[in-house]
Amino acid sequence: MKTTNTTANSTANLISDIKSAAATTPREHLSREEIISIAEQVATSLAAIPEEGFRSSRDIKEIILHCSATKQGDDFSSGDIRRWHLQRGFNDIGYHFVVRLDGTVERGRDMNLAGAHCLNHNRRSIGICYVGGLDRAGRPADTRTPAQRVALPELIRRLRRHHPAATIHGHREFAAKACPCFNAAEYSSLRPDDAGEPDCHAPGSA
Ligand SMILES: [Zn+2]
Repeated sequence: MKTTNTTANSTANLISDIKSAAATTPREHLSREEIISIAEQVATSLAAIPEEGFRSSRDIKEIILHCSATKQGDDFSSGDIRRWHLQRGFNDIGYHFVVRLDGTVERGRDMNLAGAHCLNHNRRSIGICYVGGLDRAGRPADTRTPAQRVALPELIRRLRRHHPAATIHGHREFAAKACPCFNAAEYSSLRPDDAGEPDCHAPGSA
């Protein structure tokens, strides 16, 4: 029963996120084909991550959002960012997740390990990076694509399933930076995607 409820809720959340992404896309309307394509991309990439990939053994207090500080329209993978961070002397990519331009969610650093993305907050947080954050002239800008606007809340809900008390923040709340170049408070009221759906069985029963 629980699996069924969770799947139904995820689908309902996905549809609502797609509608709001379509509504907030400036000066362009998403076609039916684009909407279906985004939904498939986001759902497929999330489904490829095992459930334990959304859970950390650490005591998670915060989910912190970042941008990659790359120009609008330029796509990069988790592997690209890992390479940049290794070049800067990190042990691994600093973020736990990367959200690409087409809404694909990619895993970064092992969730059980502290990230390297926000000074003094790494130990008890999860770091998510969407690709973008700068306009074509290199100025800070909210460049989230419609697909990223769908994928980000979906990912946050999945993480909150395991870490329901974690609060949502933008990097700029903790550092003198523009990152992630939008107000992360828009995601602060997202509920876990199985919230309000108690299991039909008592704990420990079949
Ligand atoms: Zn950042």
